[in-house]
Amino acid sequence: MKSSTPERRIGAARSVGIFGGTFNPIHAGHLAVAEDVAESQGLDQILFVPSGRPPHKPDEAIPDARRRLEMIRRAIAGNRRFAVSEVEIRLRGPSYSVRTIPILQKKLGASTRLFFLVGLDAFLEIPMWHEPERLLTLCDFIVIYRDIPGGFAGVKKLPYPVTVDSLALAELDRGTRSSVVGTLPGGREVRFIRSHDIPVSATEIRRRLAEGRTVKYLLPASVESYIMKHGFYRASKTKARSFSAKRLTVKTR
Ligand code: ATP
Repeated sequence: MKSSTPERRIGAARSVGIFGGTFNPIHAGHLAVAEDVAESQGLDQILFVPSGRPPHKPDEAIPDARRRLEMIRRAIAGNRRFAVSEVEIRLRGPSYSVRTIPILQKKLGASTRLFFLVGLDAFLEIPMWHEPERLLTLCDFIVIYRDIPGGFAGVKKLPYPVTVDSLALAELDRGTRSSVVGTLPGGREVRFIRSHDIPVSATEIRRRLAEGRTVKYLLPASVESYIMKHGFYRASKTKARSFSAKRLTVKTR
């Protein structure tokens, strides 16, 4: 039975992108970017890793981790390059990436090259995560452009040195370049890339659902019907759900 778990299925893959997040819910931005990055960066697999239940979170703040997991399962069904890991959901305690990555590396085998996939917004918040500098030594990184104030220039303001050409980063921000490779403190590779610019967020989806508005095409129909069936993010319970789940996650990662 063990051989059928997602981590085992992808055991033979040589390059795996680890895509962590709350996925509350998973949406078209996550999916389109993951597919594009797998292709452009030559990754054999993308492993979605939903975070466990963040601590200090009101019970109703986000659907149970199992339901977020189920939404991912539905979203990636039929894509052989995509898989999902329950590792953070199964672990007791907060979801720390410094804990998760070594577990995945062990499962996938030492010869598998891991890339931690993060949006630029998340990458710039890593200093607030648990043991950030150690995290940056655990695997290579792929940082995906997000339209945020300052753009890639924020990389140069991090409290640790990231070696990368500033002019190339500015070109990325302008959209006249699609990628640049740099080095993280400790020597790991970091690739800054542009991908699809799909400005959808889980926050926006939750807000629209709370307002009774359509979310059609913002996420897969199979996920939308699951949300509707269970009434996730409905207005009556959205006071708590309107919290930014990402912020909660970032503080614990
Ligand atoms: P929320 O709105 O609740 O903060 P989110 O939509 O940002 O959620 P997360 O689960 O927090 O989704 O994100 C997981 C990862 O996906 C992060 O690295 C984030 O930068 C990235 N991401 C989220 N939305 C997009 C998007 N539209 N395009 C590219 N990357 C995205």
